[in-house]
Amino acid sequence: MDTNTSGWEHSVDLLVVGSGAGGMTAALCAHGRGGTVLLIEKSDRYGGNSAMSSGCMWIPNNHLMAQAGVSDTPEEALAYLKAITRGVVPEERLRVYVAEAPAMLRYMTENSRLELQVLPDYADYYPEAAGGKPGARSVEPKRFDARLLGDEFEQMREPAVQVLMMKRIAMTVLEARILVCRSPGWKNLTARLMGGYWLDIGGRLKSRRDRRLALGNALIGMLRLSLMDRGVPLWMNTAARELLVEDGRVMGVVAEREGRAIRIRAKKGVVLAAGGFESNGLMRKQYLANPTRAEWTCGSPESTGDAIRMGTKVGAELDLMNEAWWGPTTVVPGEDRARMLVIEKALPGCIFVNKHGERFVNEAGPYIDVVTAMYKRHTPQTPCVPAYLVFDATYRSKYPCGPFLQASQQPDWRLPKAFKRSYLRKSDTLEGLAARLGVDADGLKAAVERFNQYARTGKDLDFHRGESLFDRYYGDANVRPNPCLAPLDKPPYYGMEAFAGDLGTKGGLKTDARARVLTEAGEPIPGLYAVGNCSASVMGHSCAGAGATIGPAMTFGYLAAGDAIRA
Ligand SMILES: Cc1cc2nc3c(=O)[nH]c(=O)nc-3n(C[C@H](O)[C@H](O)[C@H](O)COP(=O)(O)OP(=O)(O)OC[C@H]3O[C@@H](n4cnc5c(N)ncnc54)[C@H](O)[C@@H]3O)c2cc1C
Repeated sequence: MDTNTSGWEHSVDLLVVGSGAGGMTAALCAHGRGGTVLLIEKSDRYGGNSAMSSGCMWIPNNHLMAQAGVSDTPEEALAYLKAITRGVVPEERLRVYVAEAPAMLRYMTENSRLELQVLPDYADYYPEAAGGKPGARSVEPKRFDARLLGDEFEQMREPAVQVLMMKRIAMTVLEARILVCRSPGWKNLTARLMGGYWLDIGGRLKSRRDRRLALGNALIGMLRLSLMDRGVPLWMNTAARELLVEDGRVMGVVAEREGRAIRIRAKKGVVLAAGGFESNGLMRKQYLANPTRAEWTCGSPESTGDAIRMGTKVGAELDLMNEAWWGPTTVVPGEDRARMLVIEKALPGCIFVNKHGERFVNEAGPYIDVVTAMYKRHTPQTPCVPAYLVFDATYRSKYPCGPFLQASQQPDWRLPKAFKRSYLRKSDTLEGLAARLGVDADGLKAAVERFNQYARTGKDLDFHRGESLFDRYYGDANVRPNPCLAPLDKPPYYGMEAFAGDLGTKGGLKTDARARVLTEAGEPIPGLYAVGNCSASVMGHSCAGAGATIGPAMTFGYLAAGDAIRA
């Protein structure tokens, strides 16, 4: 379908749509290869979902693994990806990911401000699968000083509240684990982080935002500064609206900038890096399993599926549209995004139950599997969406959960009224709690009784919680014999709803191993690339480990840039 491609107002080699990790990496790599580049961002904040995230990247066989004493090979990494994706993803794409992800990471550390630390014990999500590893394939950004960005810092999208301590203090992945699992030194670390935050007097006078950035904000800070170093322009408040095609080749886009339509020519290609559709309620209903709601996502409000719609208009094929980076979420009164229950669900002394009060999943398993199980088991007779997170007073006293700190630091009487009224249900008996949650009381009592026996023996005979090394990563090492299992036997009992949420969607434009967008016939559309959550994920229905979304977004951004500039 040809469009009118005359009257360009701006011209570059590569146009990148979307300023998340995928887009910024593509822009940096294209510039590094000698191309002229423009990055456009539709909102008044750059960084997208990537800025809100934990910023981990899953990069098998990466150059930091040796430091952690973990060996890896391309063969093992490929075997692992094949085992978890089960034939859904063409082997060629998996092979390219295995070969190019470590190359991307090295390139970025040598040619940008990206600085990383390895997560030595963060196991792959399926470490017992062929080629799985006990850690070190996931890396996170080091802390980054926001002052290096000057005024540009103010335009960076804020971190998700769930990745901050007390909604304001930044923590790295390594620090978060120590704090939440109460590992040795957690009290000193808390004091150090709080001290560092309050002693940044200059920062406190300006805003409540922590300037010692960590996680996704650190990653985006490093990438933004690298773009500034290179003088690569980023146009904010500029939304791509339509792809312009001539003789079957994508020549550029129409974008809306300050209320005006402008035509931008992209001589070597357009990289769509505009995120998924998690915040588009209609697309969720159309493509994802139902019931589903945009309120259940933790992802970016700007992820409204724009790139997917633009791509399909020029003949692109879609894939994996029913998929998301699923995880159970809690919708907290007064907060604008849901929070994912990533760590809380693995800690001992809690269970998920359905409307019948029955357990239905290994709570400590990968978060993607929890929601997959919710939908799989969800029928009108056995509703599992929402499910309910149930725990007892011991759990409540020891661990932070969702928006509240452990009761030893934030007792029930200090919880906001809205939480007590309609969010956190509580009762001195399991029957009472069941009535408050609207769950079957006999079912809940039976499930708790059975689970308590498993907790005592350390063996969950139903769902094998705590058997995988991954389950134990967020367990409590002080709890024996199984760090993920403790009885729910101390009243009062608590419960809250857990929804079929996500960190973002992962179905979208179908691409080949060079990130080129494909037609239904499997042919690349010349001049069009897609990376990150607007493209169908290289992980298929699965998720390899921490960073399995940002690692591929950056890797395919690097590959798209190389392919376009070379062409
Ligand atoms: C709390 C949380 C923690 C997470 N932790 C991790 C983690 O540790 N590791 C990991 O791998 N993943 C993590 N994720 C998921 C991850 O953040 C996303 O999957 C990933 O950032 C998507 O990157 P992207 O580059 O595709 O899109 P994004 O980062 O969302 O960037 C897309 C950008 O495109 C812009 N845009 C949209 N439409 C247009 C348009 N029409 N024109 C111009 N611009 C447009 C958006 O405004 C946005 O800025 C987490 C998510 C959350 C919410």
